Amino acid sequence: EATKTSNFLRQIIEHDLDKGTYASRQWGGTPGDAAHHAKGQPDPAKIRTRFPPEPNGYLHVGHAKSICINFGLARDYGGVCHLRFDDTNPEKEDTEYVNSIIDAVKWLGFDWNGSPDAAPYQASDYFDFMYRAAEYLVEAGHAYVDEQTVEQMRANRGDFGKPGVDSPFRARTPAENLKRFREMRNGEHEDGSMVLRAKIDMASPNINMRDPAIYRIRRATHHNTGDAWCIYPMYTYAHPIEDALEQITHSLCTLEFEDQRPFYDWVLERLTEGGLLSNPPPRQYEFSRLNLTYVITSKRKLAQLVYDHKVSGWDDPRMPTIVGLRRRGYTPESLQVFAERIGVTKSDSWIDYSTLEGCLREDLELKAFRGMAVLNPVKLVLTNWDEVMGAGHLEPCSLPSLPHPPEGVESPERHFTIGKEVWIEREDFEEVPPKGYKRLFPGNKVRLKGGYVIECTGCTKDADGKITEVLATVVPDTKSGTPGADSVKVKAAITWVGVADGVKAEVRMYDRLFLEAQPDAGGKDFIEGLNPNSLKTVTAIVEPSLGHAHKDDKFQFERHGYFVADRVDHEPGKPVFNLAVGLKDSWGK
Ligand code: ATP
Ligand code: MG
Ligand code: MG
Repeated sequence: EATKTSNFLRQIIEHDLDKGTYASRQWGGTPGDAAHHAKGQPDPAKIRTRFPPEPNGYLHVGHAKSICINFGLARDYGGVCHLRFDDTNPEKEDTEYVNSIIDAVKWLGFDWNGSPDAAPYQASDYFDFMYRAAEYLVEAGHAYVDEQTVEQMRANRGDFGKPGVDSPFRARTPAENLKRFREMRNGEHEDGSMVLRAKIDMASPNINMRDPAIYRIRRATHHNTGDAWCIYPMYTYAHPIEDALEQITHSLCTLEFEDQRPFYDWVLERLTEGGLLSNPPPRQYEFSRLNLTYVITSKRKLAQLVYDHKVSGWDDPRMPTIVGLRRRGYTPESLQVFAERIGVTKSDSWIDYSTLEGCLREDLELKAFRGMAVLNPVKLVLTNWDEVMGAGHLEPCSLPSLPHPPEGVESPERHFTIGKEVWIEREDFEEVPPKGYKRLFPGNKVRLKGGYVIECTGCTKDADGKITEVLATVVPDTKSGTPGADSVKVKAAITWVGVADGVKAEVRMYDRLFLEAQPDAGGKDFIEGLNPNSLKTVTAIVEPSLGHAHKDDKFQFERHGYFVADRVDHEPGKPVFNLAVGLKDSWGK
């Protein structure tokens, strides 16, 4: 359970709850609409937040922050958070993305409307209302149909410090505008030939207030409404209406939307005046987006990595997508703790990647079963085994699966055997030991962890001088957990796996995807910053308990790090593990 630190959003919500800002809220400005759209039993005393992704790609770690903030605040203050698809842009959207977003939010541990099976909200369900609201704006003289070309409109919009120029169509009467707008809706005009614009102020210092477009003509099939519409609302107009219809109280977004807030308020004020929406309106608050070192969080750039085959797909374990993080071995709890730890602020900053890894490491430290795996195996032969232990003898051994089990719980045991031959790590033997080396070299004794003390006697080599076998003798009566275990003192215990019961496994050793901390800063070509060694696949030998893993099971491979059985490629009898995170923070090196 993450510790909750106060932040400016919590303070705003606490203030509103305290003052009862929303307690007197009238449900449904236009009878039926809001009550219909705010599914379930609306309780005005509750706060309502929303997470409004556009279904045009897979969610990433930045969205995870936004999900945890919105759903987390609603949960903490007894409110409700809506998952809402901001699906006003038909060309770019797809049900594949809708489904992946639903999965991601559920997997992160949140639901909406009290039940994860309830249908999420969709902006496209409000197209009728948005259209009626636009007709109202036209009738009230707050909107007009502009027939300037795109180029003229851009030129007349002006720039920072340079006021815009009124469109020649700006002075049309409401009746004339209404006729045109209905023609637009009825498909009587070409795509792009005209737009409906809010009539605000072409000289506003905020360019977003210079008569922004609110409807455009686009003959595109929508994944929800099909071909019912040939005009679609602009996001900036649709968004405040979605929030108001769903009775959102606190509409939280990233800082880049700060300049849009005046228009957000403008839309809600006009429609409230017109009796289409009721008071008090939702309020928008901005927080800083997540910037994570060594990571890209732009859907477009992530898509490029996928389509250029720089990674194996959206769920490649090196991707910062939620599906990628999940496949890498991240847990929902680790991401929730991460979101809490980085906090909510109003100033942009970079979060170190090691912060994310630290959260996973802490979570898995307590939960992940231990196991031994040899990643770079060389065979060790106990030359006196047959004589001392009996020819072909396999001695059963065991170790606890969890060194720090939760209080009152006894750790399960894992079982394996030791025999004449075991696999050890190649780097655990040195023919001529460097200074301070405590592992195997001729004449030195070490413990095979959970097994016996052994004494190294030498090695055998092939014609090229490569070591083919390490040779040692077993010291009888020194088995771990027996009275004789401490009779011989050693300076090191090394990990190993029996040749008789070890299981071959494919292990994918992942490293950072980018070599540079800010891969897309300053107009850099982020593709050039890709780490050519971000994936190294090895054939390892793992102990039997790891050989029995199920997809998605997480382990600590002792001394190597935390690994997960791959959700996609791991099969019983054909184990595949991904490196999730190392045991120690190695990012500073
Ligand atoms: P991208 O820029 O990657 O395409 P987006 O902002 O267009 O993402 P949306 O689907 O529109 O993606 O975003 C849904 C919500 O997630 C928005 O409220 C947005 O502010 C938030 N969000 C997106 N990226 C981040 C981020 N890096 N950190 C925090 N919140 C984010
Ligand atoms: Mg967007
Ligand atoms: Mg964006």
